[in-house]
Amino acid sequence: MRRLSTHDAVIIGAGPAGSSAALTLARRGWAVAIVEKSAFPRRKVCGEYVSASNIALLDHLEIGDAWRANAGPEIRRVGFFSGETCVEAPMPGAKYGPPAKDGFGRALGRDVLDALLLQAARSAGVEIFQPCRAVAIDRDGDMQSVHIQARDDNSADETTLRAPVIVAAHGSWEPGPLPSQIEKTNRPWDLLGFKAHFTGSSLAPDLMPLLAFPGGYGGMVLADHGRLSISCCIRRDMLARLRGNHGSSRDGPKQDGQASAADAVLRHLMASSRGVSDALDGARRDGPWLAAGPIRPGIRACYEEDIFRVGNAAGESHPIIAEGISMALQSGWLLATELAGAPSGRAGREAAGRRYQAAWRKLFSMRVYAAAAIARMAIGPGGAALMGAAVRIFPQSLTLGAHISGKTRPITGLT
Ligand SMILES: Cc1cc2nc3c(=O)[nH]c(=O)nc-3n(C[C@H](O)[C@H](O)[C@H](O)COP(=O)(O)OP(=O)(O)OC[C@H]3O[C@@H](n4cnc5c(N)ncnc54)[C@H](O)[C@@H]3O)c2cc1C
Repeated sequence: MRRLSTHDAVIIGAGPAGSSAALTLARRGWAVAIVEKSAFPRRKVCGEYVSASNIALLDHLEIGDAWRANAGPEIRRVGFFSGETCVEAPMPGAKYGPPAKDGFGRALGRDVLDALLLQAARSAGVEIFQPCRAVAIDRDGDMQSVHIQARDDNSADETTLRAPVIVAAHGSWEPGPLPSQIEKTNRPWDLLGFKAHFTGSSLAPDLMPLLAFPGGYGGMVLADHGRLSISCCIRRDMLARLRGNHGSSRDGPKQDGQASAADAVLRHLMASSRGVSDALDGARRDGPWLAAGPIRPGIRACYEEDIFRVGNAAGESHPIIAEGISMALQSGWLLATELAGAPSGRAGREAAGRRYQAAWRKLFSMRVYAAAAIARMAIGPGGAALMGAAVRIFPQSLTLGAHISGKTRPITGLT
């Protein structure tokens, strides 16, 4: 059976970027479809920290109260753990709401956050195709067709979603046949992402330490339900060395069946940082280790041929600054606002794309460059020791780093 359905916009991916764009467009009267390959709730490789700079936007998207009710404690201190070094400094607050008050970031499991956002999109009238994968995009005059496949559906059924606007919100870590997807790499310096939750950790509830260790970096933060979220990125060649098997990580880690990679990562984290081993002493893992990547930091085109990109698909900062969710939520909103205000027709959409790209670069480029510089320092030879020495002498550099990485910079223009 063939099913054809027509919308004003089709959004591929229901991470924070896709749901933010879908929700905003639907509230502006657009007929929107969103395609998500995974069933929710689902866990995801991510540190799960949401900066305070997003609070006003979360309120605008009408999920601020749910976020406050579910998220972990306010993070008022930023830290640095490496070797024997455990240093901390104040986290800067971000102003939000009238009258402007200080807000602090908090962490919320991606199983909860992404489901909340998608539920809000559903309530705003977005049609959701889930679990369904977008497998091809064809141009068809002024319209485009997105072909989707239901997961586990081996029948000959075909569903095609048509719209003049396609939004690529599928992230950047998975290769695929769509023109907006990025080719996979297999280089020794690729960074692979790992993440797990633990309960019963002794990490101070208001502290988020950056972890620097040989071959990578990471972070820890207390999220919802007393879950500690620990996540990191590690070089492919370092992971192979830690596993004692140089061939085993050739294709990169997968979601399942990589317990030995995860064990090697955990052992390395604990051995490289007193702060990590102290925090995890007596803690119990809650759920499996997840793996993803390689990550693809950098700035990409925000639109091409009526395919608009948001979130990681548009550009990605090294997760060392924990700003990817901010960039995803905010870029989804920015694009939707430009598109909703544009005259209909191709010329209007292209003008909206140009304005969106300019706004994206103004808001996020600095974050991408700052994160690349910090990541290079952390991963480079002797870098972690050098950073440790610097923050011991000048702990305020951690507060400064949080400012530079955009943690206090809200988007403007929310009405
Ligand atoms: C180790 C690590 C730690 C991190 N920690 C933090 C942190 O603490 N704070 C922070 O702000 N950021 C953090 N990040 C970054 C953050 O996770 C990402 O930037 C963010 O998830 C990007 O959101 P997105 O919506 O663009 O994409 P994603 O969250 O990747 O969502 C994309 C969605 O698209 C779906 N999809 C993909 N392909 C298809 C398809 N073909 N059809 C249908 N659906 C599809 C996927 O299933 C997914 O649900 C971290 C990243 C890593 C690697």
